Amino acid sequence: AVKATGVHKVFGDLHVLKGIDLTVMPGTVTVILGPSGSGKSTFLRLINQLETLTAGSIEVDGELIGYRHVTRHGRDVLQCLDEKGIARQRSKLGMVFQRFNLFPHKTALENVMEAPVHVLHMSKAEARQRAIDELGRVGLDDRLDHYPMQLSGGQQQRVAIARALAMKPEIMLFDEPTSALDPELVGEVLSVMRSLASHGMTMVVVTHEIGFAKEVADQVVFMDEGIVVERGGPEIIDHPGEPRFQDFLHHVL
Ligand code: ATP
Ligand code: MG
Repeated sequence: AVKATGVHKVFGDLHVLKGIDLTVMPGTVTVILGPSGSGKSTFLRLINQLETLTAGSIEVDGELIGYRHVTRHGRDVLQCLDEKGIARQRSKLGMVFQRFNLFPHKTALENVMEAPVHVLHMSKAEARQRAIDELGRVGLDDRLDHYPMQLSGGQQQRVAIARALAMKPEIMLFDEPTSALDPELVGEVLSVMRSLASHGMTMVVVTHEIGFAKEVADQVVFMDEGIVVERGGPEIIDHPGEPRFQDFLHHVL
């Protein structure tokens, strides 16, 4: 599980997150919706420890990965994991970005093998088998030896998903995985994500794909200006309570 409590993030004089509380239970899908600049990516980056938080706490798997608090002597204390701890926690998380960032000079198979070999120190043979399995899961058995340039955007994003899965993460974080794709390629990526969800993967997905959210999410969170404005089951998409959420839905639908 991921448990965020009172999470704040400040960049210079920009207060991006203003007290986010969010719990993601194992085996569930949380979809985060919200306008540009509302802090969605920042929140995912905090979970993955690509940023440090300014206040509040985040727990992954029952372990505090970071928290900041002011002691009763007025001292501001930032507590975070050491490098080893960060690496250990990060290995539980798979992240997929809008841009796939595959190595252009490596084939699909080599891209997926890279981290198991270099991070997990797996043998090449074992990593290769794992990569074949993961590429199979995303429907790319027949594209193992293709280079990114020879793949469509949707296929490249599926390689990126396979690459994350090859590390056997407990939780997958997706940051607008389909927004850089041509409309006709969105479906194949969403269907891979749908299948992951149906196999019980814990997922946090930032997306504007409202249909996907309605169908797959256990929890929907609408963020605006650094706060959670509304949250609930997928039914809140059809029955938004907050005017800001209503406006947002009118714009994206
Ligand atoms: P989008 O839908 O456009 O991806 P978002 O909800 O993901 O938006 P964030 O990327 O989290 O929003 O950014 C929230 C705010 O924080 C923005 O105003 C952004 O410019 C600012 N911001 C993000 N990262 C940094 C950084 N490293 N330094 C300074 N400001 C940042
Ligand atoms: Mg973003």
